[in-house]
Amino acid sequence: MSNNYFHSITLDKEKCMGCTNCIKRCPTEAIRVRNGKAQIIEERCIDCGECIKVCPYHAKVAITNSLDEINKFKFKIALPAPTIYSQFKEKDINKIIHSLYSLGFDYVFEVAIAAEIVSLWTREIIKSNHIKMPIISSACPAVVRLIQIKFPNLIENILPLSSPMELAARISKEYISQTKNIKINDIGVFFISPCAAKMTYIKNPIGFNKSYVDGVIAIKDIYLKMRNLMKKSESIENKISDANPTGILWAASGGESLALGIDEYVNVDGIHNVLKVLEEIENGKMEDIKYFEGLACIGGCVGGPLTVENSFVAKNRIKALSSKYKKEKSSNIYYNNINYNNYLFEKKIFSNPVLELDSDIVEAMKKYEKANEIVKILPGLDCGACGSPTCKSLAEDIVRGQANDTDCIFILRESIKQLANKMLELSNKLPPSLESEEKE
Ligand code: SF4
Ligand code: SF4
Repeated sequence: MSNNYFHSITLDKEKCMGCTNCIKRCPTEAIRVRNGKAQIIEERCIDCGECIKVCPYHAKVAITNSLDEINKFKFKIALPAPTIYSQFKEKDINKIIHSLYSLGFDYVFEVAIAAEIVSLWTREIIKSNHIKMPIISSACPAVVRLIQIKFPNLIENILPLSSPMELAARISKEYISQTKNIKINDIGVFFISPCAAKMTYIKNPIGFNKSYVDGVIAIKDIYLKMRNLMKKSESIENKISDANPTGILWAASGGESLALGIDEYVNVDGIHNVLKVLEEIENGKMEDIKYFEGLACIGGCVGGPLTVENSFVAKNRIKALSSKYKKEKSSNIYYNNINYNNYLFEKKIFSNPVLELDSDIVEAMKKYEKANEIVKILPGLDCGACGSPTCKSLAEDIVRGQANDTDCIFILRESIKQLANKMLELSNKLPPSLESEEKE
């Protein structure tokens, strides 16, 4: 990844207490604690938001857009992620959508509608048998980044299709431009997001040359305003939501898979679980599986780091809402009018081998062997006190020249003990010129 790669997740140094909680949860070992503060190794970070969730001091923050930024555009479109429906006690989706209009948006296009279309297209792609199985969902950008970094052999399994967010942005922008005769550049499309990974995605799209999304607003940043607006509003007589259960269910883990109408799928949530299952896929242990849905957050997007509701409560709400809203034809209007070939990846996804010890293979082998030797003398406790997440990662940091063996407190203690013994030994020895005759 180039140096100008944008990361949504950053560190607030003032707040960081160097507690090392985050280094142990990072799935790509992208964090170290040095000089009492966390440091993010940018090229390794997949913006999954795991560190935001575990930091007790709120020192990890996601950069997103503020609501005010919608005013830069003449016409403002909100793209609420299906997760938004799970954040409120409100059972009427129409009221939730209405509150977005009240916040200043001119048009709301529900990403759930696009999610349903993506599901229908994915069914066609699975049937076409053109992509290596199991096909891996490309909906969660953090999982796709994880594959680029850790599982280069699985890149060809990634579903080469626009995500629901991008599809929603493109459809709504083109629709408004045509029907209201507004220039595309005057239309601002804002995704109402459960996660930081989407912000990273719009700045560095995967498989596409550009994103149609102009900004990402965190659900947590507008939650209170929406809730207050809902409290004030009367019941909505006109139906303004077009979302169907198929699309709404995408908010929770398993929803995407369920919409495919096949039994041969595996859905996994939580980035560490995803990591384990990807290892199994890479090792050929899932040959009978046609589709793999991996979501970085526990429970799926309902557990995203920029949400407010408990993910278990949110998941139940999504299930209840999806059974309440009956299947209607609305999203099929788009499905029948657009062809998925126009929404396939425009460019190849490349691997990003940042975990290798050296770009030169011979050097990498030498460093690998040296790191293995160092690991043998480390205690194997993976305590993290050295500021690296595991003993193995400290050994790798040492061979990369980024750490010392005495960063390990056990090695340091042993070294101090040896030094103290040596000093004691020396203090008992006197130079011959000072030794007394009696001693002889
Ligand atoms: S979890 Fe990480 S960022 Fe938060 S205080 Fe601890 S070391 Fe710092
Ligand atoms: S699971 Fe959903 S909320 Fe979490 S990182 Fe992936 S896309 Fe974002």
